[in-house]
Amino acid sequence: MSSDLVIVYHRQPYEEAIENGKVVRRVNKSPNGIVPTLKSFFGSVDHASWIAWKLAEDPSAPDFEQKVEITDEYGQYTVSRLALSETQVREFYHITSKEAFWPILHAFKERYNYDPVDWENFRDVNRRFAEAAADEAAEGALVWVHDYNLWLVPGYLRKMRPDVQIAFFHHTPFPSADMFNALPWRREIVESLLACDDVGFHIPRYAANFVSVASSLFDVDLSDRIPVDPAFLSEATALTERAIRETITHNGHNTAVSVCPVGVNNAYLDEVAHAPETDAKVAEIREGLGDSQLIISVGRTDYTKGGVQQLEAFERVLEANPELCDQKLRLMHISVSANRNMTAYAEIQAEIEQVAGRINGKFGTFDWQPVALVSRALPLEDLVAYYRASDVAWITPLADGMNLVCKEYTASRFDEDGVLVLSEFAGAAVQLHDAVMTNPFSHRSMDRTILEALKMDRFERKRRMKRLRAAVKADDISTWRPGTLDLGVAMKRSAVA
Ligand code: UDP
Repeated sequence: MSSDLVIVYHRQPYEEAIENGKVVRRVNKSPNGIVPTLKSFFGSVDHASWIAWKLAEDPSAPDFEQKVEITDEYGQYTVSRLALSETQVREFYHITSKEAFWPILHAFKERYNYDPVDWENFRDVNRRFAEAAADEAAEGALVWVHDYNLWLVPGYLRKMRPDVQIAFFHHTPFPSADMFNALPWRREIVESLLACDDVGFHIPRYAANFVSVASSLFDVDLSDRIPVDPAFLSEATALTERAIRETITHNGHNTAVSVCPVGVNNAYLDEVAHAPETDAKVAEIREGLGDSQLIISVGRTDYTKGGVQQLEAFERVLEANPELCDQKLRLMHISVSANRNMTAYAEIQAEIEQVAGRINGKFGTFDWQPVALVSRALPLEDLVAYYRASDVAWITPLADGMNLVCKEYTASRFDEDGVLVLSEFAGAAVQLHDAVMTNPFSHRSMDRTILEALKMDRFERKRRMKRLRAAVKADDISTWRPGTLDLGVAMKRSAVA
């Protein structure tokens, strides 16, 4: 059955496990996060499809189940899975996407690893995603492609299916031409993106960077500059952009460049925050803390998240402020290990463990350890309890497309208390003007702002949190869309059919 909406996202839309020798698929428990958000669009159409990859020992084995039909609370949809071998996954995802693209997207040129890239494999995997999407899409359907590891899909798809609408969303930052053009495949990537009807970004700066990259590589026509929505204007962040161009014309084809920041599921977070079980957890955490203040820090173990730099700031602050030692302050540092097989991440993990161990060794006592380091993912319900129990959320990535943790923190603080210290290099900073902004590259800024947050009075905490909460509510996940494209067209077509 063909679909009016086709989502192309590398991960499958459910958790798959083997139980008693049988494959079982579980719906993601929490409705917060990108997968459930994308699935929520399925309810708008009669039938939808999702294209993802799945690891297969032998991709050509006849018993590989290429398509599965799912009916769950989100609707009825087909999941079309591309069978990829371990080598293909390593080359397409771990090497090309994570070692070559990821550092450039986040402006870490020194970490960029070009030599091991197998570009033919990357092309091949992207072409297969495009073929699967072309196979699923109904006439005039909307195909919504996600993230940089699928950059070449729109170009292939446009040739196969000129009738479909193609939207592409970047979940990461998009860098300036000076940085992006370090990629030798720059023209091929951008030409593919210019085959889209809409290319979407979290914030105006990334959109503006994309326009300038496209202008540097091709002879394009641009629409006039228009001022950005004042909700995105903040003097305190490095990422503020004042005006953007909303259309790029290349070879007679118009591509809309749209800004649509991802938000959080406010209603769900509010429900979790108010749950009696959460109250009990918060009480337990606070009791364990005694008179200590609690700082919470949550992120993935990735060099872009600045975990090591943050721990080093904590060490300096304890050193310079002995009155904060001995039961006065604790840092809950949650740094979820990503892929342990990747050298870059293993190194960061080791560094984080080393600095946290050094701090606890230097300042800790028998009954007080300043840093609680957690390397595994906690369920959202537990995170919300820590969000509520903490005095400060310390979110200091060196670069981050959006950062949802800071929005979740804010959405959970119905008591209008707690202080958010936020890196000015997180996309969310252009929306969350009332956070205490910090520059994670500056020792002075990091040390000063965390102390400012710990000492902030109740009146100022409340003033800021009220406004932060209004900003997070204004941009609830329910308002997120495939850029300028009208999902309604797909919906109406379904209604008529
Ligand atoms: N998260 C989680 N458990 C943890 C740590 C993080 O469920 O122990 C979730 C967190 O709630 C958030 C997501 O992981 O929804 C991280 O999203 P964010 O945009 O902050 O960072 P990303 O990892 O996508 O760069």
